[in-house]
Amino acid sequence: MRQDFTPPIPRPGPRRRPVFTAAALIGVCLTAAGCADGDGGQAPGTAAPETASRSASSSPATAPSSSSSAPAPESGSSTGSGSTKPLPQGPLSGRTVVIDPGHNPGNRDHAREINAQVKMGTGHKECDTTGTATNSGYAEALFTLDVSRRLRTLLEKEGAKVVLTQDGDRPFGPCVDERARIGNEEKADAAVSVHADGAATGNRGFHVILPAAVHGDGADTAKIVVPSRELGVRIAGNFVRTTGSAPSNYIGEDTGLDTRDDLGGLNLSTVPKVFIECGNMRDPKDDALLTSKGWRQKAALGIADGISSYLTR
Ligand code: ZN
Repeated sequence: MRQDFTPPIPRPGPRRRPVFTAAALIGVCLTAAGCADGDGGQAPGTAAPETASRSASSSPATAPSSSSSAPAPESGSSTGSGSTKPLPQGPLSGRTVVIDPGHNPGNRDHAREINAQVKMGTGHKECDTTGTATNSGYAEALFTLDVSRRLRTLLEKEGAKVVLTQDGDRPFGPCVDERARIGNEEKADAAVSVHADGAATGNRGFHVILPAAVHGDGADTAKIVVPSRELGVRIAGNFVRTTGSAPSNYIGEDTGLDTRDDLGGLNLSTVPKVFIECGNMRDPKDDALLTSKGWRQKAALGIADGISSYLTR
């Protein structure tokens, strides 16, 4: 891939909303170790290998095999976790943001249910996965919930209606197709799935995952590819500014951006949506950031500012 993009250098100062240039380029997964998360990834102690299937090109990924004979998870109407309290008037009044905390702390106790296969546009994939964890055992599912709740608070202060796909209020999941459906049914103006990666030590930094052009089997991302990139670029730029973290050194060729066609949560979305992998839980230096409440607040602020920038552009 071309490398004519220079990531912005974080600068101290008041809240600003820098934007990556439109020249920011699509990155690809360069190493197997860097392909460990997204909809995939398993916490230590679970049977499934950590490395999730994904493609380094636009070719469809091979659906992972499963010995599960679990029934298909529920489909139909989806329910997210929305707030009922009155919202302040703000720049995001009238806008809806769906935040998707990746995985679920209860997934590890529901292997049969989360291993059930669901359609995801380019094949089938597990309903959901346990996610990864730091070497000391801080689960990605707890990280994603914490950052998502902080993000909700920040966005609600700006007047947005915020819906979480799960708020620690269900025993497992939702499945990846329902995670997408919640955003669709809310007619979200923007949707963000929050994750942290589980790659090898030495792999550091964040990256934002953008939807590829996918058509078929219930998926059609034609209308969201461009706006999702705009959303992702703004989140990446603000994330650099608020956290001081550099874009990933193992995915995306230093752009902090990656494009994938193997994530049901993106393939099945009909609203602008991105994933963010906030760091690598298995790297000791990133671990120190991800386990810090103060850093998680900065991470949430960067994501919130990116969303706000996108919605008020
Ligand atoms: Zn994840």
